[in-house]
Parts: sequence; structure tokens; C-alpha cells
Amino acid sequence: MPDKETIKCSFCGKNKQDTNVLIAGINAHICDSCIDQAIGIVEAEKSSKDSSELSEQFKLLKPKEIKNHLDKHVIGQDSAKKVLAVAVYNHYKRLMQPKKKEEEVEIEKSNIIMVGETGTGKTLLARTIAKMLNVPFCIADATVLTEAGYVGEDVESILSRLLQVADYDVKAAERGIVFIDEIDKIARKNDNPSITRDVSGEGVQQAMLKLLEGSIVNVPPQGGRKHPDQKMIAVNTANILFICGGAFDGIDRKIGSRLNTQSIGYKKSSDESIDKKDILQYIAPQDLKSFGLIPELIGRMPILTYLKPLDKKALRAILTEPKNAIIKQYKKLFEMDEIILSFDDKTLDLIVDKAIEYKLGARGLRSICEAIMLDAMFDIPSKENKEEYFKITLAYAQEKLKKVSVKKLKAA
Ligand code: ADP
Repeated sequence: MPDKETIKCSFCGKNKQDTNVLIAGINAHICDSCIDQAIGIVEAEKSSKDSSELSEQFKLLKPKEIKNHLDKHVIGQDSAKKVLAVAVYNHYKRLMQPKKKEEEVEIEKSNIIMVGETGTGKTLLARTIAKMLNVPFCIADATVLTEAGYVGEDVESILSRLLQVADYDVKAAERGIVFIDEIDKIARKNDNPSITRDVSGEGVQQAMLKLLEGSIVNVPPQGGRKHPDQKMIAVNTANILFICGGAFDGIDRKIGSRLNTQSIGYKKSSDESIDKKDILQYIAPQDLKSFGLIPELIGRMPILTYLKPLDKKALRAILTEPKNAIIKQYKKLFEMDEIILSFDDKTLDLIVDKAIEYKLGARGLRSICEAIMLDAMFDIPSKENKEEYFKITLAYAQEKLKKVSVKKLKAA
């Protein structure tokens, strides 16, 4: 057995008395400072491996390609698509940055907020991006969230869902995308924040800050409310991309009044005139503030974009053009029964007109189609002598629609 003086670190050669800790192995010793160094090397290796794996996964996707992909699934909304494509590209570029050195420029996380009427494609955009990147994706509804201590779900439960879709692979979840819907519903209801406690408003916004900014959050694996003896999973949100969406009903008035006040004293020239029909295009962070979001939360969603209401032309395109367009889906279903299904142009116009008349938006297209198609889908598969073709004429569609109430279509 060697005496105390002759025991040395086998890596740096330091004598035992010059180290804080010296750990003995089978044939060697290692001191605490060599362990520290070794940990650094292992972590740097791991991080460069992770980032090269990621660059493998994302290398083909430049913003233009991301937009092209979105074009296949989502009609119109060019402005939102462009903003999202750049934001997503930069987000994953940030993930690919090998571990930061002190002096290096740090690319900040860029969560996104989308403003637009319901049924204009906010969720669809977020979902399409997640699918394209093949990362875990979940949708959370901001309306069910409440401040800790009140009835409702804790903010952390948003991440429980992400963990579930990632099969509890924490590393995968930590690169996922979360879509938080109805973010406008947690806006502060009154202008004076200190008068009453606003359970569903400002408190929730405060609680969301730490989620959005990137920190280690303890997540209840099954969601719901946290309770003391539940085992928590620590999730780092630094690389989770949060995309928030909301209709922000009435925000056009806030934008309008801001634009009007701004023009006083500045005297806008005629070519700078405001396009009143499409006022959402001028949306700025201060409008979200006037709507009732707290500045800290707005600051954590630096990318702001908007979606246009869908007009007749867009609705008509949604029916037939996207990769998974509703009409294509019905055709596929009939094809599996060896029937060639077709729709008269006038039938398609009728579907769009009804969606507009009943103010159902894009979501209504499916319920209207379903009402038209139900009888055919019920009867045809068991018919003895199946015809090869089946055409949905205007008269057929009108007859089927006569039987359903608008209420039912709205509820679908
Ligand atoms: P939002 O999140 O804005 O309320 P969604 O993205 O959930 O709306 O849209 C509801 C449905 O309407 C989607 O499943 C999709 O079928 C259709 N839809 C809405 N907007 C579009 C669009 N721009 N392009 C294609 N389909 C759309």
C-alpha cells in the first residue's frame, strides 16, 4: 500500500494533500479538479452531438421551404406564414447552436403570438409546423387555467400534455411546440389591476411568465392540479417553442384608436392612409397591452402576427385545395368502397355560401359537408349493386341540407 504522500491523481499528477478530494479506482486515482474538467468535456461532447443530430433533422428546412410546406396545408394567410417560417427557422437555429461560451452572441427564444378570428387557421398553422419538424406538439386551452390555489388547472399542466404526447421522453418534449389557444381570455378584465384579485386573468398571466421565458418547471405527469405527494417531472422550457393564439375580439377598435391618435400632429400623407378593412395588419404590442395582457407576457412573445378573416374565395379553396382538403377526404373514403365520388361546382358554392350565411367559418365547412354526405355514407357501402360513380348535385345537397337545423351545424 503506497503511503499518503505518494498517492497522486493519475490525470494531473497532483499529490493527495494538494487536492480536495481524490477518488480511487482499480488502478488509478482522480482528483476533484480533473473530475470537473472531465464533466466539462463530456457535456461539450454531448451538446455538439445533440446539435449535429438536430442539424441533421432540420438542415433541409429554410424559411422558404417551411412556407412552401405550409402553403400545401393552409390557404392564404401569407403574412402569418412568412413570419412563422422565419421564427421557426431561427428557433431551431438557436437550438443547433453548440453550448454557448460567455462571449458569444446569445440568440433569444422567440415565442409567437397570433391574432385572428376563430377558425382562420391558427391551430392548423401550429400543428402543420410541428408535424413538419416531427417534434412533439400539444394544444392547451388558456381558459381552463387558473392561478395556483384556485379551482382549475395549474399552468404547469400545459406541459403534462406535451410530456404525454412525447411518451414521457423529457428530452423530446423539451424541443416540442406548445400551442396555447384563447390567450385573449386571460386578459385583465379591468383597467386597475390592484382593486380585486383577478383569478382567471392577471394571476394566470404571471404564472405563465416562467413557462414562456425558459426555466426548469416541475410538471405533474398526469396533469390537473399539483398535490403535495405527487412525483414531479422537471422540464426545462428553454427550448420549447410556445405559439399563442387568440381572437382578441374588439382589438380592431384599439388599433384604430391608436392609429387615429398617432396621426394627430403628424398629419399622415395620403399614401400613408390606413386600410380600414384590414386594420389587423397594423397590430402592435401596445394594442395587446390595451387589451389587457401584461407587458411582461407580451415581452416574452416577441413575434406578433395576424390572420385575416377568410373570404368566400378562401373558403372555397379550403374545401378542395389543401393536401388533406375535406372534399379530397370524402373522395378517398368512397374510393375505398370502389366508388368515384364527384361534386358539382354549384354544390361546392352552396357549401361555402351556407358557411358564410350561418357565420360558421372554415369549421362549418366540415359540418355542412357531413350533413350532406351522411345518408350516402350510410347507405352506399351495403348496396347490392353499387354504382361506379356518385355525384353530389346541387339539388341533392339542397335536399339533404333542408333536413338539418342550423343549430346542429353550429354545434358540430
Ligand atoms: P383557429 O385555431 O384559428 O380557431 P383552426 O386552425 O382550428 O382555427 O381551423 C379550424 C379548421 O378550419 C381547421 O381544421 C381547418 O380544416 C380549417 N381551416 C381554417 N383556416 C384554414 C386555412 N387558412 N386553410 C385551410 N384550412 C383552414
